[in-house]
Amino acid sequence: MFDNLSEKLDKALHVLRGHGQITEINVAETTKEIRRALLDADVNFKIAKEFTNKVKEKAIGQNVLTTLQPGQLMVKIVKDELTELMGGDAEGINLSGNPAVILMSGLQGSGKTTFSGKLANFLKRKKSKNPLLVACDVYRPAAIDQLHVVGDQIGIPVYSDKENNNPVSLALAGVAHARANGHNVVIIDTAGRLAVDQAMMTEIANIRDAVKPQEVLFVVDAMTGQDAVNTARAFNEVLDFDGVVLTKLDGDTRGGAAISIKSVVNKPIKFIGTGEKMDAIDVFHPSRMADRILGMGDVISLVERAQEQFDEEQARKIQKKIAKNAFGFDDFLSQIQQIKKMGSMKDLIGMMPGAGKALKGMDIDDDAFKHIEAIIYSMTPDERANPAKLDARRKKRIAGGSGTSLQEVNQLLKQFEQMSKMMKMMQGGGGKKMMQMMQQ
Ligand code: GDP
Repeated sequence: MFDNLSEKLDKALHVLRGHGQITEINVAETTKEIRRALLDADVNFKIAKEFTNKVKEKAIGQNVLTTLQPGQLMVKIVKDELTELMGGDAEGINLSGNPAVILMSGLQGSGKTTFSGKLANFLKRKKSKNPLLVACDVYRPAAIDQLHVVGDQIGIPVYSDKENNNPVSLALAGVAHARANGHNVVIIDTAGRLAVDQAMMTEIANIRDAVKPQEVLFVVDAMTGQDAVNTARAFNEVLDFDGVVLTKLDGDTRGGAAISIKSVVNKPIKFIGTGEKMDAIDVFHPSRMADRILGMGDVISLVERAQEQFDEEQARKIQKKIAKNAFGFDDFLSQIQQIKKMGSMKDLIGMMPGAGKALKGMDIDDDAFKHIEAIIYSMTPDERANPAKLDARRKKRIAGGSGTSLQEVNQLLKQFEQMSKMMKMMQGGGGKKMMQMMQQ
């Protein structure tokens, strides 16, 4: 996410991070570089200029030149300004009303249908809601089918009626259906067009006037940069929407849309889409995004994800097993599965501070655990419970069965052994022991 921008900002701030002499010229040079980085990221010229002017003003006001760590202060100023530009505090969505109605708008291909599913899934699993999806695209039967596919995937019902070609009455029928069936959230997926089109806008405005939604969300593909901002402006003029959803932030996005959209339409970005899968959705937090852009990672989100997936009962079971020296490969497997539930490897690594820069250009296998899992699946239940039984003959068989090499099997066994030892140590009040070991 935003690799190029992060790298350029890092370079711009590099001069001030050093311990050499810092002069007013350096600060001016740095802000110029920052502006260039923003322009390259497709941030609107006026916004980039205002941004750097503010940074410069603050830097001079706070006497960057005379502080002991000017680089750090400068990073903080840039971070605060970036956060402010992207919206300040995170804003949630309004789920009042029974049902709460959420109307989706956006161009065709922006990711509207995918996001409708992601949002329904998010509200069901994280907010314990009982959503209904409503298909209101009366022009493309395939769009209705697509929403059904999405709904089936996440176990959420979809209301559609291919006989009805009036989007307003369809939307109203969808809301009535939700009310009759105890759904407390309705997400209406509307028809998009390939480009901004007055008839499409009027249609969505008519749906909005009829169903009076709690939220009108505008979905836009972040990869389209300045176009995304222009489309947002056009939609906002007609719809006066409540919030923006930026999709495809997992791609090679330059970042301009994320940075500029809020100040152009004065509406908050509420969610981001970070992949094609149904769980690739995040609430947008301007300050965490600023951290990411500046290569500072997003540790808060990472910890939150870990907490969400943390299964207390499972943890207790594992603890007992470790205490009894009975931690086996089945347990190892279930740990891996928990990590995998947290998201793709690329996504997780991207949240670690400094990782973006260190891993730039590296092809991260999205299924990094594939080989490990294959090896474990090739073991018998008895072998998984008693790894000590794995002699050379068995290891060879496992390597053959899992399509890996003997070397990979040995490596996994070694890692497993080390991990078991470490867990045992952490268990038995061994924090101290471990510290001692590390100090040696
Ligand atoms: P709609 O026409 O606005 O309903 O768009 P779709 O939901 O059909 O999405 C268009 C394409 O974008 C599909 O291939 C989706 O899988 C893909 N897509 C949607 N959201 C994301 C995202 O956050 N990341 C990526 N990489 N692809 C996405």
